[in-house]
Parts: sequence; C-alpha cells; structure tokens
Amino acid sequence: MDLKVNLLQVLKSLPEIVKLVAVSKTHPVEDILELYDAGQRVFGENRVQEFIEKYPKLPTDIEWHFIGHLQTNKVKQIVPLVHTIHSVDSFKLLKEIDKEAAKVQRCISCLFEFHIADEDSKFGLNLNSASEFLSSPEYFALKNVQIIGVMGMATFTDDHNQVRIEFRKLRSIFDSLRQAFFVSDKRFKEISMGMTLDYPIAIEEGSTMVRIGSAIFGERTSIR
Ligand SMILES: *Cc1c(COP(=O)(O)O)cnc(C)c1O
Repeated sequence: MDLKVNLLQVLKSLPEIVKLVAVSKTHPVEDILELYDAGQRVFGENRVQEFIEKYPKLPTDIEWHFIGHLQTNKVKQIVPLVHTIHSVDSFKLLKEIDKEAAKVQRCISCLFEFHIADEDSKFGLNLNSASEFLSSPEYFALKNVQIIGVMGMATFTDDHNQVRIEFRKLRSIFDSLRQAFFVSDKRFKEISMGMTLDYPIAIEEGSTMVRIGSAIFGERTSIR
C-alpha cells in the first residue's frame, strides 16, 4: 500500500481550513517517516507508552497531538513532547497538564472532550460541568494551558443520521462555550471531530480538525 497516495487522497477531500491529524497509533515509525517525507507534520497518538517510544526516533518538528484517554499520573511524561491534547475529559487532568507544563515552561493547547455518543464507554465532559469550571477562579489561575476548542467521538454505527446528530451536538456545545466564555479569545476555534469512517459527515457539520488513521495507514491489526 502506498501511504503517500492515501495521504494525498485524504488531503484532497478536506476543505483547506480543516487540519489533518494523521493518527499513527499502532503503526511503525517507518510509516510515519514516509508520510513526513510527503510533507505531513501533524500526527496523533493515543497511548503514552507507545508515543514516548516513537518520539525520539522521529524528526523534532513533528507537531504531536495526543488523542487518547490520559491518566493524570502519565501527564508528566508527555507534556514536554506534545503540542496539543484533544482528550481533556476532567478538570483534574487539565490542572495537572498546567502544573507539568509550567515546570518545563511550555503552554499546551488543549481541547475539552465531550461525551456525545450513545455509548457508555467513551470518556467526556458535559456542557454544564465545562461551563462551571470555565467560570471558576481555578480556571483563571491556569497559565500554561490554552483551551482551543472541543473534541468528540460519534457512536460507532452505520446510522449516518445518528452520527450527524451527535456531531451537530458537539458543534452546538462549541457555539455555546464560545459565546459564553471565549468571545474575545480567537484561539478558541477548533472542533475536533471525524475519523476514517465518519469524517465527511463531520466536515459537513463544521469540523475544523479531523483525526484520521486507517484511511491513511491502513487497517490496524489490533482494535484500538
Ligand atoms: C484511533 C482514533 C482515531 C482514528 O481512527 P480511524 O478510524 O483509524 O481513522 C481518531 N480519534 C481517536 C480518539 C482515536 O483513538
């Protein structure tokens, strides 16, 4: 399989304003390098251990996005390496990211992950808890994280209409938060939604970042 051809095909299908996060989880550094040579600079990983093993073997100008569930006790390991964290699903986690980022004098771009799917297993916040936190003095005290938007995963289903409704829900959460908390903050502009099977719908519903693995790298041999 020609990864560059896959990459170009995906890029061709994206509007210019939509950023592609090439999800490289489970795939070897050789494959990532092949896409790097084709010009791709933004890659996504979802496991801390796998990410920190790959990181030193790859060019330093890669913009790494962490997209998987992150335990607070592992934040320290990735904060020096990562550019954006899509999966902030608790305030405890956000505060930990801020604390570790301060130690290494970095500012990490973060997205709040919302639970939009009709599945219990997915992590995520709801609008009320996010609003409460964004109004709190604790939030204002954070100096080394920048909230740039929201992220969500739709239910894994063939029902396109359900997927569309869930993406629309994320879009409306984004609009509400922007209106209430970020009117004067132009950096809050990202809606991270859409994977290999559902990204065309996500784009129609206003996605600005798609996280695409299989369509570029091929099927994963493990289910994660
Ligand atoms: C694996 C993964 C993706 C990419 O999935 P594909 O179906 O291979 O495109 C996107 N987002 C998250 C959070 C993932 O874990």
